[in-house]
Amino acid sequence: MTDLPAGSDLPQERRVVTAIPGPVSQELMARKQAAVADGVGTVMPVFARRAGGGVLEDVDGNSFIDFGSGIAVTSVGNSAEAVVRRATAQLQAFTHTCVMVTPYEPYVEVCERLAELTPGDHAKKSALFNSGAEAVENAVKIARTHTKRQAVVVFDHGYHGRTNLTMALTSKSMPYKHGFGPFAPEVYRVPVAYPYRWLTGPENCAEEAAAQAIDQISKQVGAANVAAIIIEPVLGEGGFIEPAKGFLPRIAEFAKENGIVFVADEIQSGFCRTGQWFACEDEGIVPDLITTAKGIAGGLPLAAVTGRAEIMDSAHSGGLGGTYGGNPVACAAALGSIETMLELDLPSRAKQIEEVMKPRLQKLAQQHGVIGDVRGRGAMLAIELVKPGTKDPNPEATAALAKSCHQQGLLVLTTGTYGNVMRFLPPLVIGEDLLNEGLDILESALTAL
Ligand SMILES: *Cc1c(COP(=O)(O)O)cnc(C)c1O
Repeated sequence: MTDLPAGSDLPQERRVVTAIPGPVSQELMARKQAAVADGVGTVMPVFARRAGGGVLEDVDGNSFIDFGSGIAVTSVGNSAEAVVRRATAQLQAFTHTCVMVTPYEPYVEVCERLAELTPGDHAKKSALFNSGAEAVENAVKIARTHTKRQAVVVFDHGYHGRTNLTMALTSKSMPYKHGFGPFAPEVYRVPVAYPYRWLTGPENCAEEAAAQAIDQISKQVGAANVAAIIIEPVLGEGGFIEPAKGFLPRIAEFAKENGIVFVADEIQSGFCRTGQWFACEDEGIVPDLITTAKGIAGGLPLAAVTGRAEIMDSAHSGGLGGTYGGNPVACAAALGSIETMLELDLPSRAKQIEEVMKPRLQKLAQQHGVIGDVRGRGAMLAIELVKPGTKDPNPEATAALAKSCHQQGLLVLTTGTYGNVMRFLPPLVIGEDLLNEGLDILESALTAL
């Protein structure tokens, strides 16, 4: 791996100069507790001051190696040069007109780029929104009006957001849904091919899971009632689950045979994260609709639904939109982010990150019985922690490991239906030294565990 420009002048080094959290962060945390609703949680209780390249600096002067990218968002690094340049120019020109009132070129240009970059060479159109959840909701609106059907099929361990409809689409109760019902109707959940936890083992997982899912859709919902099947090609919040090979193509084929809109939710897995522009390319899948957000705009809020022009056009004029959707500054940032991804060939970069990280994670798994599984692709990698000698989830060890990494200056995130997955989502521009130093910390934290 050769080093890439950091995009900011922040020293690319880990530095721990206070206890974590330091005194200034503790003061700010007291203010947060007094002024910010408790529902807005904190993974690592330090306050950010600056971030760029592969590091995040806190208000006490500590510098953390960033294995989180703000949850897979700053793939091009924080304050990436092209993002700042284009967003700044747009800020100075105008900040908002509302695309539904007076359109502007950056919105159109983002949709043109999305048509080029997403899988398939059919005619495509896009609509832009503010958040991933909003994109998923709009994909459902579009699929329903196109098919004149109501049912939506989602999968075990799926995550699609925190709005009312997307809570219904999301699998995990605590913390996403608990106490927040009632949820939207006509949502049906079916099995996913989760190789590590498939009861009969990983070998026939794809076939058996697809057969079960299709049987449930056909018999319990009725394929003719289904507007959309929505799946993450690599499941994010559910625990970085890569469905066993063959599962996704079978489900996509079933959707096609039955006139169901197949939606790939690539909000976390898209935009170079898995070593390809979009994770569904891995098995040659061409979704009817694809939802994107997170990595699209280098940290500014932007999301999109992109898909077959005839499906996208089935919603009537005025039926899709919102005051801020496709804000010009966010669009300019997205164009800067895409420019960076192309210029630095970030899909290849994600593959190089996998080449550095995955063998080391696999070696750690051999040495530490607490690691039950190593999985993921590109710079979307994870370890699943279990009670040694079993497959029983070990969320306690996962939380302790994360805390220990934080204290040594490594920002890691946990996830998973059972809270027992540690995920690694470094910015794709991180230097190889930082990547290895981060893994050294993980290794010593595992040994201390
Ligand atoms: C994060 C995420 C969402 C929700 O995106 P928000 O911008 O938080 O609303 C939806 N789907 C997937 C796969 C995600 O990872």
